[in-house]
Amino acid sequence: MREEITRLMSLQGIDRQLHELQDALSKVGGRVGQLRLETDGYRAELERLQQEEQQARINQRQLEKDLAEGEANNRNKRMRRNQVRNEKEQQAIDHEIESQREHNQRVESDLLTLMSGEEARAKRIAELVQLAEQGTANLLAAEKEIAAQVEDLKISIAKHRVDRDQMVQNIDAALLARYEMIFSRRAGLAVAEARDGTCNGCRMRLPPQFYNQILRHEQVYFCPNCQRILYCEG
Ligand SMILES: [Zn+2]
Repeated sequence: MREEITRLMSLQGIDRQLHELQDALSKVGGRVGQLRLETDGYRAELERLQQEEQQARINQRQLEKDLAEGEANNRNKRMRRNQVRNEKEQQAIDHEIESQREHNQRVESDLLTLMSGEEARAKRIAELVQLAEQGTANLLAAEKEIAAQVEDLKISIAKHRVDRDQMVQNIDAALLARYEMIFSRRAGLAVAEARDGTCNGCRMRLPPQFYNQILRHEQVYFCPNCQRILYCEG
C-alpha cells in the first residue's frame, strides 16, 4: 500500500505540473486571442458598413431616378393644365399635381436622410480599414513573439503526458478514477498527509483508531470529511 500511495503522490506532482503548464499556455495564447478577437471585430464591422454603403448607393440612385421622374411628371401635368379649359378637369389635374408634389417631397426627404449618414460612414470605413490593417500586423507580430514559448510549453506538456501515461499503468484503475475525481474537485490536492491525527487537506481531526490504521498503511484510506487519499510520513 505504501508503494501505491507513493505512486499516487508522484502522479499528483505530474498532474500539478501539467496544470501549471496548461495554464501558462492559455495565458501566453491569451493576448493573441484578444488581438484576434479585436481584429475580427473590426473586419466584421467594416464588411457590414461596406455592404450598407453599397445598398445606400443603390437606394440613392433609385430615389434620384424616382425624384427626376416625379418632377418631369409634374412639369408635364402643368403644361397639360394650361391647355385644359374645363374647370373640372383643371381641378382634377391640380389634385394630381398636389399629390405628386407631396410624393416628390417625401422622396427628397428620404434622399437627404440617406445622404446625411454618408459622411460619418465613409469616415468610419476609412478608420476601420486602418484598424483592421494595424490589428492584423499586431496579431502576426504577437503570434511570432510567442511561437517559441508556445512550442516549448507544448513539448513540455507532451513529455509530462508520456510520464503520466507510464505512471498510471501501475495504479489500480478504481483507485486512479477516485484519485482523478478528487484531484479535479479539490483544486489539485487529492493525496493529503495525515499528521498528528489531522487531515492536512481539510484540517479535520481524524478518529484516533482510524489514524492508527493509516500509520500502519494496511490499505488506502480516505479522509471521512474531504474524501482525500491519506498517507503518513515515516
Ligand atoms: Zn480531509
